[in-house]
Amino acid sequence: MEKHFDLIAIGGGSGGLAVAEKAAQYGRKVAIIEANKMGGTCVNNGCVPKKVMWYAANLSHAVDDAVDFGIPVNRNVTNWNRLVQGRDAYIRNINQYWDRYVTESGIAHIRGYGRFTGRNSVAVNGKTYTADHIVIATGGKPIVPPIPGAELGITSDGFFQLREQPQSVAVIGGGYIGVELSGVLNALGSSVTLIVKDNFVLQSFDTMISEVLSSEIKRQGIRLETGFQVATLSNSAEGIIVCSTEGKAVGAFECVIWAVGRLPNTQNLNLHAAGINVLPNGVIPVDQYENTNVPGIYAIGDITGKIPLTPVAIAAGRKLADRLFKGKQDSKVDYENVPSVVFSHPPVATVGLTEAQAVQRFGDNVTIYKSRFTPMRYALSPHGPTTAMKLVCAGPREKVVGIHLIGDNADEILQGFAVAVKMGATKEDFDNTIAIHPSSAEELVTMKTPEPGCKKKSEPHEIDGGNEWRQVC
Ligand SMILES: Cc1cc2nc3c(=O)[nH]c(=O)nc-3n(C[C@H](O)[C@H](O)[C@H](O)COP(=O)(O)OP(=O)(O)OC[C@H]3O[C@@H](n4cnc5c(N)ncnc54)[C@H](O)[C@@H]3O)c2cc1C
Repeated sequence: MEKHFDLIAIGGGSGGLAVAEKAAQYGRKVAIIEANKMGGTCVNNGCVPKKVMWYAANLSHAVDDAVDFGIPVNRNVTNWNRLVQGRDAYIRNINQYWDRYVTESGIAHIRGYGRFTGRNSVAVNGKTYTADHIVIATGGKPIVPPIPGAELGITSDGFFQLREQPQSVAVIGGGYIGVELSGVLNALGSSVTLIVKDNFVLQSFDTMISEVLSSEIKRQGIRLETGFQVATLSNSAEGIIVCSTEGKAVGAFECVIWAVGRLPNTQNLNLHAAGINVLPNGVIPVDQYENTNVPGIYAIGDITGKIPLTPVAIAAGRKLADRLFKGKQDSKVDYENVPSVVFSHPPVATVGLTEAQAVQRFGDNVTIYKSRFTPMRYALSPHGPTTAMKLVCAGPREKVVGIHLIGDNADEILQGFAVAVKMGATKEDFDNTIAIHPSSAEELVTMKTPEPGCKKKSEPHEIDGGNEWRQVC
């Protein structure tokens, strides 16, 4: 195999594949070093298998509601084996697609783990490869905290390896992975306890989101343990017991899942051989162009500690290739107003500033519009989860600087509205857009205009046929 390349990407996940693909399209000689399956976390242990499981969970909720719509169905025990086999076959297809794509694009696939041996050289399985440009895109891995009995728990990686559905599960962690996995397991029939150290789940989100999702989680039958700092895991005849620092014990569980964050994969890269700076938490610091401190070495995706999402890693890879090989000197990712979704039940979608962030930035110049209702989808069903929406507007022209949604279809509604936010739309632009009726999304363009500082009161009105309240002046 050729030993010198124009560009080597270490890691064949979202970022590595994106930069390699673009560089190859620009006619460059490119290699990807990847030890595992092509596609990285998103394809193999993240977005894709998670979303398949989420669809399964949605279907079971729909089946629960179907009888009330006159559809005679009866939900039985989930056929876990069939579900995971189908999911894994779907992922194998994506792996094969990428293997084929890499070969057909003339990109060399160097199998194994890469370690720096110098400023422009990387060793894999005893062979050394050099490149003018080296991109570190090695992503991250789940954290397992160093506490007694921690090894009794699995991580999100282990969740995707489960060949049987656990009947009783504790999920530890109230971030997006914790709420997603507990929602899926609960919908598919496991008894779930979600253990979080704060008072709410998704603590870093807008308070409306964390409060509504926390109460929805409970309403759906998940046991939510808040303010619970896990101290130990231990085995008992009945299963795994989880103890808090305050001596509270919950359990026994057949399965415990750690969802307490992720660590960058920097430990085995031998970064010091190239003189690359790394922070104590393993993050490789980069500037806005994804340059590390060493010329010719870049880092993209989760490893940089920026926004850990697949489309962000892909955008960083593509922009970098445009800069290096297409002469676009100013090509860089705009990290402002990146929309994101949590595939909880119901899903959460958010873009821009939270209310608290907006107040911090704009002071009194912030206007908030809120709405809360039960969508028409639940007109005949007693199971209606809440939909809640918030527009955060700033300045006299009421520029929309944040949108926060929780409710069915929020995941699909937000993308178009994120374009509007990115373009600088104002509340008036929203108001001037005719609603689509009956829908939940129409609420975003029909919220009434409150005066800043006005006394807010509840006024029932008809939205999508549901029973709801919203704040009006
Ligand atoms: C459970 C879960 C759900 C998620 N859901 C979503 C979602 O819904 N939407 C979303 O946008 N994001 C989601 N993410 C996040 C998303 O997966 C990551 O942001 C994305 O994969 C980051 O891409 P990356 O290129 O930085 O790293 P990765 O995709 O992690 O790729 C890194 C690759 O580097 C390889 N590697 C590591 N070290 C070396 C080495 N020394 N040599 C060679 N190869 C190496 C690894 O094997 C891996 O294939 C989810 C993540 C998880 C864990």
